[in-house]
Amino acid sequence: MALTVDFDAEELWLAEDPANAARPGVLSQARYGAEIAVPQLLDMLDRIGVPATFFVCGRDAERYPSVLESVASRGHEIGHHGHSHRSPHLMAREEETEELVRGLAVLREFTDRVAGYRSPSWDLSPHTLDLLVEHGFSYSSNLMDAVLPYVHAGHDLVEIPVHWTLDDAPHFWFDATSWDRTIRSAREVAEVWGEEATAIHDGGGLVTLTVHPQIIGRPGRLRMLERFLTGVRAYDDGSVWLATCGEVAGATRAAASGARS
Ligand code: ZN
Repeated sequence: MALTVDFDAEELWLAEDPANAARPGVLSQARYGAEIAVPQLLDMLDRIGVPATFFVCGRDAERYPSVLESVASRGHEIGHHGHSHRSPHLMAREEETEELVRGLAVLREFTDRVAGYRSPSWDLSPHTLDLLVEHGFSYSSNLMDAVLPYVHAGHDLVEIPVHWTLDDAPHFWFDATSWDRTIRSAREVAEVWGEEATAIHDGGGLVTLTVHPQIIGRPGRLRMLERFLTGVRAYDDGSVWLATCGEVAGATRAAASGARS
């Protein structure tokens, strides 16, 4: 199992609409995620001994350097989540390259190696995989075509597969514009995650859990996440490996080259 945290902060709302820069009420949700939720999440992960991979926008890292230092100093992995939070499929190749390079430069101030890329929308352009190889990435975590991680055919990249089921956003996201979404209880979401994670455990595969500080960081939800992760930790029969995406990518490469030789 790999716990992944998409550190969206202000960039999420600025990508949706640059005019949000002038809306402190909207952006207060971003600040809550970065300044309140992430520190509490880090304390909780320390308490239960679970490693995570934080995918961070370069501009958010510039905005919250002390939060990023805290993520890195507690041993979690830092991956690339765009420089801004704009989706690569909306960009020309040159612009996408610039986003990658600028984000990398910022994130490398906090970590020796940025091995992984998760696009802001789990969406890729036709150029993304080429660009990731070109810029030294080891894995992508964006696609929904597998339960087991795999090495891309034609690209020297591991894929760490994801799915909406194991994400917090589709279950909890409340649309304040339309009010057409109902907020689910943490108990219901724990049930959805539990069904999926147990079935993946029994059949063999990777549980990539994706959470967002501004969403999972509400007090009742954080409590649920701690219970969920403690439950995973309680499997003491050696059948569960809790790892960062980088570690999973390394093991996937090793297994693939072992199978070839
Ligand atoms: Zn995001």
